[in-house]
Amino acid sequence: MALLTIRTIPDPILRLKAEPVDGVDEDLRQLLSDMAETMYANDGIGLAAPQVARSVRAIVVDARDKEERGDPEGLLRLVNPVIAEAEGTVCFEEGCLSVPELRADVKRHERVLVKAIDADNEPVEIEAEDLLAIVLQHEMDHLDGILFIDHIGRLKRELYLRKLRKEASKNA
Ligand code: ZN
Repeated sequence: MALLTIRTIPDPILRLKAEPVDGVDEDLRQLLSDMAETMYANDGIGLAAPQVARSVRAIVVDARDKEERGDPEGLLRLVNPVIAEAEGTVCFEEGCLSVPELRADVKRHERVLVKAIDADNEPVEIEAEDLLAIVLQHEMDHLDGILFIDHIGRLKRELYLRKLRKEASKNA
């Protein structure tokens, strides 16, 4: 197990479309457990492989209450996930480990059916609603190079990016 470094914007790897995985091997299983460890260490509820500089279609999600988190039974490790069905609309204040110091309301589907393969290379289907559905959509966006700031108002996004650039030039 190892803690991985989380990439933050404007790292270009966050904007790439991640490659599909051709079967889960030992290397990918290791990546998934390192991602889970990194997610828990950062108090995250989801993490996508591009956030740790691996441009492959793999995510980990644990959106349960604090007391239940960490129990491996409820940790989702999903490879090549796709949204097969979606319905309803929900608005929720999101944040992202790759987008520091910003939280903003994002509109997403309220319920989704996600199909993927799990860490044992078996097909899985997950029916999710509310927070779990939101996190799944957020993490799957990462696999297409999409960040939650792409779903917020242009003005809010530009103010945030301007602030980031200012801080970066201060630290340069
Ligand atoms: Zn994120």
